[in-house]
Amino acid sequence: MLSKGHGAIAARAVALLATDTATRPLADLLTPSLPMVVFGAWLPDKTYFKSGSGDTQNHVLKMAEYTGPNRKRFVVTHKETLKQLGEARKLSHVLRDAGRLPEGWWDKAYRGDCPRGEHPANCAMGLATTLTDLLLLGDPRIQARVTGGVGHRMALPDGAATSEMQASLYFFMLSHYLADAHMPCHADARPLALYRGKLHARWEEYIDEQVAKFPAPEKVSEHTPEQILERAVAAIPLDFPNVIPSLKSDVWQEVIWICRASFAVNCIIASPDRYPLIKTSKPRKDEHDLPAKAPMPSFGELFEGRRALLEEVTEAILHDAVLSVAQVWKHVWQSVKGIQAITAPRLVA
Ligand SMILES: [Zn+2]
Repeated sequence: MLSKGHGAIAARAVALLATDTATRPLADLLTPSLPMVVFGAWLPDKTYFKSGSGDTQNHVLKMAEYTGPNRKRFVVTHKETLKQLGEARKLSHVLRDAGRLPEGWWDKAYRGDCPRGEHPANCAMGLATTLTDLLLLGDPRIQARVTGGVGHRMALPDGAATSEMQASLYFFMLSHYLADAHMPCHADARPLALYRGKLHARWEEYIDEQVAKFPAPEKVSEHTPEQILERAVAAIPLDFPNVIPSLKSDVWQEVIWICRASFAVNCIIASPDRYPLIKTSKPRKDEHDLPAKAPMPSFGELFEGRRALLEEVTEAILHDAVLSVAQVWKHVWQSVKGIQAITAPRLVA
C-alpha cells in the first residue's frame, strides 16, 4: 500500500466507527485530530522510521510452502480458513470456491517468514496493547470518553497523561500494519511478489488510483476533519456492516488470518501451477539473490483478460482493510472499557 491508500483506508475506518453505537465515542475522539494524524497511517513506511521500529520490507509476512518438522501445524483447511475469516469479509467470498486454487493447494502446509523483530502481527499486537494503556492513562479529555480510565484517579505527573492527539496518532499507525496485511504481495514469498518486481509496485499504484478522491498525502492537513471523512467515504464507497464484528480471537491471530487469506489470493492471481512456490532466500536483498530464472510476471500479464478478477480482488482488499482496521480499533476501545471494574492503585502525590 502507498501513503494515499493507507490514509484513505484509516480515515474510512473512522467514518465506519461513527456508524456503530459502540464505537461512536471513539470516532468522536479521533475525528478532531484527523488533519494532523492521518499521516500516522503511512508513517511506518517512511525512511526515517529505520531509526526506530521500521525498516524497508519490514512488517510483511512472506508465506511459502513449509516442509519442516510439525508440518501438520501449518496446514489450515479451506473450511477453517473461511470460518476464521468470517462472512463479513469479502476475501472469504473470493476464496469460497476451492476450485479457484490448484488441486491439493489447501492440503499443503504454509508458513510465514520475516526477519526477527519485524513480524507484522507483533507490530500490530504491540501497538494495540500499548494503546489500551495509553487510553487508560488519558488526560481529562480522554477520561471524559473512557469510562474505565484511571488517569483521574491517579496523580499522574504533569504531561504524563495521554492526549487525544497522541492516542489518535497511534491508532493511525496501528492501521498501517492491518492494511498492509491485505496486500497479497506482502504475504507471498515468491520472487514475483517482490516490490522491485513487475507486479507488486504497479498493483499498489493501481490501488492508489482507486482511492483518487482522497486528498494527496501532502494536502490532507489542509482539509477539515469533516472534509477528510467525506473524501474517505467518496474514495471507498462500499457498504459495511452496521455493527462492526468483534475479533474472533486477538489482534495477533487476526493479522495471521489476513496474511493467509492474502497469500491464497495471490495464488489465485499467479497460480503455483505456473509460478512455483519457490521463495527468495534473502527477501531483503537485491535482484542477484533471486533464484536463477525465477518467473517475474508483470501486473499487466497477470491480469490480462481478467479485469473482473482484478476488480473483485481490489474491492475485497479495500473493503476488508477498512473493516479490519475498524474491528481492531473497536477491540482496543472495548478492552479499555472492560477494565472499569478493576480498582486502580492510588499513587501518592
Ligand atoms: Zn508498510
